[in-house]
Amino acid sequence: MIEKTQTLWLDGALTGWEDGTTHLMTHTLHYGFGAFEGIRSYQQANGGTAIFRLEEHIDRLFASSKAAYLEVPFDRATIMAACTEVVRANGLRNAYLRPLVFVSEPNIIFAHWLNRVRVAVLAFPWEGYSDRNREEGTNAKFSPYVRPKAQAAFYKAKLCGHYALSVVAYSEAVRTGYKQAIFLDEDGMVCEATGDNLFLVKDQVLVTPPSSRSILMGLTRDSVMTLARELGYRVEERDISREECLTADELFTTGTASELLPVRMLEGHPVGTGKLGPVTTAVQQAFSAAAQGRAAQYKHWLTPV
Ligand code: PMP
Repeated sequence: MIEKTQTLWLDGALTGWEDGTTHLMTHTLHYGFGAFEGIRSYQQANGGTAIFRLEEHIDRLFASSKAAYLEVPFDRATIMAACTEVVRANGLRNAYLRPLVFVSEPNIIFAHWLNRVRVAVLAFPWEGYSDRNREEGTNAKFSPYVRPKAQAAFYKAKLCGHYALSVVAYSEAVRTGYKQAIFLDEDGMVCEATGDNLFLVKDQVLVTPPSSRSILMGLTRDSVMTLARELGYRVEERDISREECLTADELFTTGTASELLPVRMLEGHPVGTGKLGPVTTAVQQAFSAAAQGRAAQYKHWLTPV
């Protein structure tokens, strides 16, 4: 359950949480035609609060909107300022931020341009998923739902409607006794988890699917590649088969909400030793240090609130 806050940002101004409403004729509600982001702020080692990779998240929000011909009625600086204002106004430290670009009402015909584009930024306290422990990790299966491959580029956009497939794949996984699902595409190649990217570790090398597959270009994925290389590991972006996952030494997912999460069981088999692995641990620690402002070389990833 999320803990609601006092204040949100809507269409250019801070307003009360209860004012964050829209009519049932809202276009995005019917067709999923909207774009969003998931961002985190972290309490810093020096006592302050900072937002992790804010600029890159807002760039992605604009790129996602553009891919869907949505014109965001604010500039990047305004949306970035809205993010810091919402965190500050609510006195948040470790928090999750959700900027949302959506098409309003009253027209629910496909000509979305007849309606106003609206923008909201919500934030609420967040310490990570309560059921997804950093050490315990997750228990995953390959999803019977297939990620369309022909539209790999379109999956680079974080569009609301894409998530119908994620929600159904996640539900199917949970109903069949798993906690997470991994999408394969029409070629049977690994893409990503329902809301996270995927890495495997084999013989000390980290491997993650390339951008040519239907994946979101995750910012945690990007941070992990940078941090792992700095730690001295080789990192490869290349195709991964189902079998490679099943025989990996370590497997982990990456995403803003859950950071790095080990996949300890896959299709009922332990991954590697079935325990939290050394490479996953090393990169998890480096990630926390960067996010919490304990790594001077990554200060540029942090926007103080
Ligand atoms: N893939 C999907 C489908 C996602 O929804 C997310 C979460 N935004 C990710 C990957 C991870 O992206 P990021 O690290 O930028 O949160």
